[in-house]
Formats: sequence, structure tokens, C-alpha cells
Amino acid sequence: MNDVRAKRIANFIEPLRVEPGSKVRLAKDFDPAFKAGVTKKRDGRELLRTGVELLAEYQRRLAAENTRGVLLCLQALDAGGKDGTIRHVMSGVNPQGVKVSSFKVPSAEELDHDYLWRYACRLPARGEIGIFNRSHYEEVLVVRVHPENLDRQRLPGASAGKNLWARRFREINDWERYLTDNGFSVVKLFLNLSWEEQRARFLRRIDVPDRNWKFSAADIRERRFWKDYQHAFSEMLSATSKPWAPWYVIPADRKWFARLCAGAVLAHTLMELDPQYPRVSDEARDELSKARAELEAEEQPPTTAGGSRRA
Ligand code: ATP
Ligand code: MG
Repeated sequence: MNDVRAKRIANFIEPLRVEPGSKVRLAKDFDPAFKAGVTKKRDGRELLRTGVELLAEYQRRLAAENTRGVLLCLQALDAGGKDGTIRHVMSGVNPQGVKVSSFKVPSAEELDHDYLWRYACRLPARGEIGIFNRSHYEEVLVVRVHPENLDRQRLPGASAGKNLWARRFREINDWERYLTDNGFSVVKLFLNLSWEEQRARFLRRIDVPDRNWKFSAADIRERRFWKDYQHAFSEMLSATSKPWAPWYVIPADRKWFARLCAGAVLAHTLMELDPQYPRVSDEARDELSKARAELEAEEQPPTTAGGSRRA
């Protein structure tokens, strides 16, 4: 039964996976409106509910096993739906086992370090799921589209040369390999939104009063760099989808479908890890039996400390 379910999830997410070594041209290779045969929103929501229950169970096991961790990296263009995806996909999971970190423009302290430092500081511990809302991939996306960010990083001459992006891709691949080798799975999701849908979402933020707070004029300015971002994303996906940490391109024009896909990729990762509740030793089992016997023999609460009764 579990195998059938695992296989169904693996087949469902397969078309979203960026084949390691392939050359991605985002606009041509991935359709932001793809629905993979799930045509009704109601069916999608129902499936997500099942997925959320599955995630809750696997997360409990991951925490109990306390040996491995999972890092989920979420990247998207503005209004891509990162926040809603996190909210819905993690809705059934014990908050104690999940750590969400959002990355904004780096602080002065962060800029005083190497560029991966601030991400390393927020990695999940064993037994945890860490979610990066934006991630170390900003270092080859926004920093590439707006090179003035690079000036603020104060790289010494030799590190800032012509092969900078190729070198960063290699460093990121090496870092993720190091993490996976040490028991931390890296799951990478890119929420792929179309130009038209981003416009529609911005207009909704302007027109619907309850959404005004989400609107930022900076997002509109950033939209002018759409082509540069598409190029940066394509290069990044081509260079950093690796067998140990592949990218999944999530069709993001329909929020319900994006959430379903994100949940499926995370569920797939956890099912592959298949964490187990720890088995107790014979000695510990004897202790349990003794404790049971003592509890069953109890008649009344003790009247003094240590259980002795006064005459
Ligand atoms: P929201 O959904 O709330 O808008 P957000 O992730 O877009 O979430 P913002 O505060 O709007 O958060 O934007 C964060 C900004 O920080 C983005 O414009 C992003 O490009 C920028 N940023 C993130 N990492 C870096 C980085 N390493 N260097 C420069 N800018 C960065
Ligand atoms: Mg924003």
C-alpha cells in the first residue's frame, strides 16, 4: 500500500524535476500553468489534505529518529506564492520540528562574512525540517541581476573575477553535497510564475484593500528585470540541479496546484528517507515493564516526599 502511494507520488513529481546535466531554458521547458492531469481545484485540495497528513506522520518519525534533517529551499519571483505554500504545506506539522528562515537584503554583520555564512547559521538540526524562504540561491539570482549587491560583499580582487558565477555554482553544489553526505537532504523548489499571472497578482494587491499591505512599489521595479531573472534562473537551474540535490520547477500560476506539488516533493523526500521510530533495547523494555507494574500497584497518592507514610 505504502509502496503504491510512494510510486504514485514519484510519478507525479517526475515531470517537475530538472534532469541533472540538462540545459534549462525556463520559458521553453516549463509551463507555469501545467496541471499534470489534476484538472479540478477540489481534487487538488483533497490530495493536498492527504499529503499534509502524510507529512505530519513522517515529520514525527524524522524527529523521533533524530539522525537526519531536511532543508527545503524555496525560490520564486515576487508574488510567486512562497508564504502561502509554506502555510498550507506545513499546516499539519508540529511547529516544534520546523524552522522557517526568511532571507532579505543582507545586514552589515552578514556582509562582514563569506556569502554562505548567514545560510549556514540557519541550517536545520538533526530531526528538523528547515525551510529557507529565499535561500543561498539569491547569491546567484538577485546578486547577479543587480551586480551592485556584489560590491557590498567586498570580495578581494581574485575572487571577484570573470568566472564568478561558475565558481559560485560549484561552491553551492559542493556545500549541498557536504550537507547530504552528512545526513541533511536538500530539497529545492522554484515556484515558476508567468509574466501575466504576476501582473494579475500585483493588480489584486492594489485593488483589494486587505491585500494592499502586500504591495510594494519595489516589486514593480523588479518586474522590469523579468528577462534578466529568467536568464539567471535558467542558468542556475542548469548548473545546480544535481543527483544529490535536484531542482523541481513548480508550476505556480495556480496556487492550489503549486501547493500540491510542493507537498508532493517534500513527501517524496521524507518517504525516501523513511525515518524510523527508535526501537528500545531489552534493558529499556524491562524498565518499562517495571514502571507498568509499579503504576498498576498504586492505590493512593503518597502523603509525604519520597512516598513514606507518617504513622
Ligand atoms: P514578501 O512575500 O513578504 O514580499 P520577500 O521574500 O519578497 O517576501 P521582501 O522583504 O519583500 O521579502 O524582499 C526581500 C528582498 O531581499 C528581495 O528583494 C530579495 O531580492 C532581497 N535579497 C534577498 N537576498 C539577498 C541578497 N543576498 N542580496 C541582495 N538582496 C537580497
Ligand atoms: Mg517581496
